[in-house]
Amino acid sequence: MRFVAFEKDGQPAVGAVIPEEDAVVDLSEAGLPADLASIIEMGDAGMRAAAKACDQGARVPMSGLKILAPFPRPRRNVICVGKNYFEHSKEFENSGFDSTSGGQTVPDAPVVFTKAPSSVSAPGDEIPATSDPSESTDYEGELGVVIGKAGRNISKADAYAHVCGYTIVNDVTARNLQQRHKQWFLGKSLDGFCPMGPVFVTADEIGDVTTLKLTTHVNGELRQDACVKDLIFDIPTIIETVSALITLEPGDIIATGTPAGVGIGFKPPKFLKPGDVVKIEIDRIGVLENPVV
Ligand code: MG
Repeated sequence: MRFVAFEKDGQPAVGAVIPEEDAVVDLSEAGLPADLASIIEMGDAGMRAAAKACDQGARVPMSGLKILAPFPRPRRNVICVGKNYFEHSKEFENSGFDSTSGGQTVPDAPVVFTKAPSSVSAPGDEIPATSDPSESTDYEGELGVVIGKAGRNISKADAYAHVCGYTIVNDVTARNLQQRHKQWFLGKSLDGFCPMGPVFVTADEIGDVTTLKLTTHVNGELRQDACVKDLIFDIPTIIETVSALITLEPGDIIATGTPAGVGIGFKPPKFLKPGDVVKIEIDRIGVLENPVV
């Protein structure tokens, strides 16, 4: 199934998407919670109720809806993995903006950091490059993994049983802040620096996630083009690593890392500027597009 969050009377609501009708069914009309994490937390019962609502519920046309991020304000920080594609790891090291590598181009353990929940923004929302005082705003197209079933000490073999689906994340980054503070949280957590969506797609609809291809275009120019199978630390390894220390919870979002082709991969760097448009596409999920101001 595919889900969106949308604005209803000024509040977030959750819709199940009926793709062939370009419409959604408002799940609150079926008595389901108005936030996706709560529906996910219900497990199979939540998914069954959503499917039943799709059979019976009134259609609301997608056109005219203000689509929000599927998790407009996540319960916890967005968990992120840095330097998780080989060619990107090299371009970051060579850019001079990585103040934390210790000269190690490819990390020997996953580089894990987080983004503040308040950084999340919707498809179509403006990326506020002008609010970056260091004038070094960059894009990072990424696959977002969403946790469905809570767990601690999850083994690689069990990892996918804890994943309920996927979305698209733009891990927008202020490069000079990332470098200056020698810790990535601030430079990646500015308000509006985490566009997400447009949809959350359940894992059963994706099939083999490692076959998904990701592209990023800026103003129509292809910048990133990679496949999820190229991750240095794959999804099971990330889940095993994080859950060995932190209990993962339903609705947790893990941004799995960005491939080569970010702005600092170019000389001189191609930072985002007002008027730019960033478009990230992942097969079988959709297109996340945001203008820059
Ligand atoms: Mg990233």
